This record gives sequence, structure tokens and C-alpha cells, in this order.
Amino acid sequence: MFCPECGSENPDDARFCGACGKTLNDAQQPAPDSPEPVAQIVDLDSTQPAVSAGLKWGILAASLLVPLIGVIMGIFYMLKGENEDKKSVGRLWLFASIGIGFFYFLLSGSGL
Ligand SMILES: [Zn+2]
Repeated sequence: MFCPECGSENPDDARFCGACGKTLNDAQQPAPDSPEPVAQIVDLDSTQPAVSAGLKWGILAASLLVPLIGVIMGIFYMLKGENEDKKSVGRLWLFASIGIGFFYFLLSGSGL
């Protein structure tokens, strides 16, 4: 290593400069480059938006698919139902799908 005071070369384990007697321990303290903080910042930027975006698309898909299937099932049972039991099941599907769709709509609206 080189002395920060006079610039003369010294052994790496030397505590004092051989030419001017300056303490060399202070010059050894700061590391030339530290890659760890940079890696942490990259991790934070890459993970956080990915999780919220995935959750958003999951809620969106559920809010569209669940009522769609419920409405199709409900209309099918109400039109093709041979008796009152199946027609009431169809109505139940319709109301449930509308309720679930409204619930997901509120959830996606308030959470994001
Ligand atoms: Zn020196």
C-alpha cells in the first residue's frame, strides 16, 4: 500500500509509514467499493411492484370469472329447470354471482 501522506510504498500490513512515520491504519478503513447496498436497492425495486401487480390481476380475473360462471349457471338452470327446485337453484346462482362480483369490485376498488 502507499502512504496517503508522502506517497511512498509500504508493506500491506505496515502500521506506520517507513518514510514519514504517518499512521497507516486510518487509510485502510474505507473499502474501495461495496456492492451490498446496491444489491439491496435492486431487490426492493424488483419485488414490490410484482407482488401488487399479481394481486391486482388475480382480483380482476376473479371478479370477472366468478360472476360470469354464476350468471351462466343461473340462466341455464332457470330456463332449463324442469321443476321449481332447479329454478330456485338458478336464482340462487344468479344472486350469489352478483353478490360475489360486487364484493370483488369493492375489494379491488378499496385495496388498490
Ligand atoms: Zn509516508
